[in-house]
Amino acid sequence: MTYAFRQSPVRRQSSRPPDQMSFLSDETDASLFHRIASLPKIDLHRHVTGSISAATAVRIAAKYGVELPTYIAADLDKILFSQESVSDHQQYFIPWPILNKLFVSLAAVREILIEIVRDAAADNVIYTELRVGPRAFLGDRSEYSFKEFAETVTVTLREADSKFGTTTKCILGIPRHVYSKLAPATRSKMFAKMLYIIREHASCFVGVDLNGDELAADASEFTSFFNMANDLDVPVTIHAGEVGPAENVSYAIRHLHASRIGHGIAAVESEPTLNLLAERQCVLEICPTSNKFLGIVNGYRELPLERLRERNIPFVICTDNPVRCRTSLTEELYKVAKSFSYSIDDVKQLCRASARAAFADDNTRNILIANLA
Ligand SMILES: [Zn+2]
Repeated sequence: MTYAFRQSPVRRQSSRPPDQMSFLSDETDASLFHRIASLPKIDLHRHVTGSISAATAVRIAAKYGVELPTYIAADLDKILFSQESVSDHQQYFIPWPILNKLFVSLAAVREILIEIVRDAAADNVIYTELRVGPRAFLGDRSEYSFKEFAETVTVTLREADSKFGTTTKCILGIPRHVYSKLAPATRSKMFAKMLYIIREHASCFVGVDLNGDELAADASEFTSFFNMANDLDVPVTIHAGEVGPAENVSYAIRHLHASRIGHGIAAVESEPTLNLLAERQCVLEICPTSNKFLGIVNGYRELPLERLRERNIPFVICTDNPVRCRTSLTEELYKVAKSFSYSIDDVKQLCRASARAAFADDNTRNILIANLA
């Protein structure tokens, strides 16, 4: 089965110049935005920490005694998220040390997750794969273990989904810049334990990911973790080809068992990498605003979507860090539709491609596909 997105026949027959931004149809921007906002949508690449709003941060910090630069939400918003662009991942992650302090207890974790699911539901995101990091397990706080964390996440998301009518799964994200500092033996022991625990919570944890600054640590340091994951049939997605070269994408597919790639924008610079992506039908998780925010593309038209389509390489549209990048899945899809003259039917096909690429079990995936029909 191919996940590749195809534009509708009407669009393909268009003779419109590629840089023309308005629509062939008589649909207004307002109508298009409204229709996208109303669509049930799927986000396969959304990080927990990058989804915490200033208002949530203030509420949690005040309740659980966490120190913040200010307790005025509007001021905190300016401190954390006022940049319109950043030059590298170090700047991108400036809010993270402040936001990560909020995971101060399991009760705080629970409240953060509920607000994130609520916000996704408000954007009609019916299915999300949330990336959560195992910071608690690193020993930088002693309030709870990774096992307790995984149990809390599983129970909380089940309750939140029941309340908001959503389906939310987790992908365990390994921050490469954090784990590369540990001795290999220590790291391997931790990885084995984490994988064992998420397998015990397979109803919630549906995959694993390598994330963080791609330039900060070599992916080869993590082969043992992803080999273990593969042996346990845990699906893998890897952040690669975001700020690093195309070879990182090939490496992730060949040596880390990735069936999806976070970003992968650099892949278009390498024919062998494009061939590999097409041959394996490996899905690229494209996050337009995040890529522009980091200066990987100057404008949305620079996203290599047409090239991927030509090569029959599947891709999906995601938010990455919606609060950090000041976006939503509706806005990501709208930006892509505007930039590439996609119709609402094309956008629906993108949503269906996301359903097919979900790491959830077959039954959940089939329900999603049916809901998007
Ligand atoms: Zn990401």
